[in-house]
Parts: sequence; structure tokens; C-alpha cells
Amino acid sequence: MRKKFIAGNWKLNKGVAESVAFAKDFKARVAGVKDVEIAIAPVFTAIYAVAAELKGSNVWVAGQDVYHQASGAFTGEVSAPLLKEAGASWAIIGHSERRQIFGETNQTVNEKLKAVLAAGLGPIVCVGETLSEREGGKAFDVVRGHVKGGLAGLSADEAKKVVIAYEPVWAIGTGKTASPAQAQEVHAFIRGELKALFGAEAAEAIRIQYGGSVKADNAKELMGQADIDGALVGGASLDPASFEKIVKYLG
Ligand code: PEP
Repeated sequence: MRKKFIAGNWKLNKGVAESVAFAKDFKARVAGVKDVEIAIAPVFTAIYAVAAELKGSNVWVAGQDVYHQASGAFTGEVSAPLLKEAGASWAIIGHSERRQIFGETNQTVNEKLKAVLAAGLGPIVCVGETLSEREGGKAFDVVRGHVKGGLAGLSADEAKKVVIAYEPVWAIGTGKTASPAQAQEVHAFIRGELKALFGAEAAEAIRIQYGGSVKADNAKELMGQADIDGALVGGASLDPASFEKIVKYLG
């Protein structure tokens, strides 16, 4: 059985004080949750303080991005070993905002993924089509490309450590959620691609989160789909009460 995994991506929101206050409040709200893994991804500058606040709790900390080199002349970048040292356990890779605004490609995603695995962090690899790609009938081809290119060169054992987040770009921050059936269709397709790449055992083990306007009132139905193993949540993870409801699927 795949344990559900729900992660909050805060994007460029909340400074250190606000992030730590959230962590303090939120960890008490979800202390009793055992059947769902939980993570929050603050901005880089807040990771150390948030991880210290969450130490010993059931809430992981994730980086929103990572650089593939460990150290050196790469001004402005943060590496996987440094994220780990700061207290993160996970790193989000290839979020659509990074692909669209910062020029990430399947190649850079693949490099980052390998660096994250080498550092002993858990990777959350984002995949998903834009509205024009979906309307042009290319959604499955795009998602296949993201999965194949992003995970290229991994062994089945390495692939098992990866979490994939299927995030249709047209559903991110728009209030337009994919219907549970629409999301399940793509999740099942991704699992089929993973089976072709890494074999049935790995494909069954890999968790596939859904992301795109997940809220308290649609979480339960989405989480009930056979191949949806959790969620990557943006806007609705910024408020502790709303994120608590999602994590507990209270609807
Ligand atoms: C995201 O940023 O990954 C996301 C899914 O955002 P939202 O939940 O706000 O659509």
C-alpha cells in the first residue's frame, strides 16, 4: 500500500517569523495524523528555522527547488546537501512555474533529481500539461515526455524513492481543478509509463500526487481515486486551518 503524501508549496510567500508561527500552530493541529505523510515547502530563507520548529513532529520540510551542483561558482543557487543540512527532507523539482518562468527543462529536472537522490533527500518531480497542450490533444505526450526525460537513467530502486506530482498547469492557482476522473486518467497513464520504464514493482510503489487548486472541499474525492496518492497544494496550504482540513480530508 502506498502511504498518502500531502505537501504544501508556499511559493514566494511568508518570511521567517510567519513561517515559524505557521509551523508551531500546524504541527499541533496534525499531531495525531498517522496515515498521511505531510510536508511544507517554505522559501529557502525560512527552511532552517521551520525545520527546527518541526523537529520531532510528523511534518517534513521541503525545498521548493534545488541546484544540481553540490558547491562552487554558482551564484544564487542552493544545493541538495545544503538543503539537507538546513533540515529539509524533500525537494520539489521542475514545478511548472520553474519550467515556465525560469526555463527548466526535462534535462535540468533530471540533473536535479540525480543530485537530490545522491544527497539522500526525497524528490517530488512535477509534471503536467498546459491548457493549450491539453486542448491540442497533447496532454499525454507532454506528460510522457516529462516522466521519461525527468527520470531518465534511474534504476528501479532509485525510481521507487521518487514522488511524482501531476499538476495540470491550467489547474494551478486558477481555482479550476481537474475532475477526479480526469486526474485519475492521467495518474493511471503515468503509472503505466513508470511500469514500462521501471517494471511493475517499482510502478506500484511510486507515489503520484495530484496538484492544481486542491482545497478542503475537493480533497476527499481526489484522494479516493485509485492512482492518486496524495496532493501538492499551493494556495490552500498557506493557512494552517485550511491545510489541516486537506491533510485530514475533512471536506
Ligand atoms: C502548486 O503550486 O503546486 C499548486 C498546485 O498550486 P494551487 O494549489 O494554488 O493550484
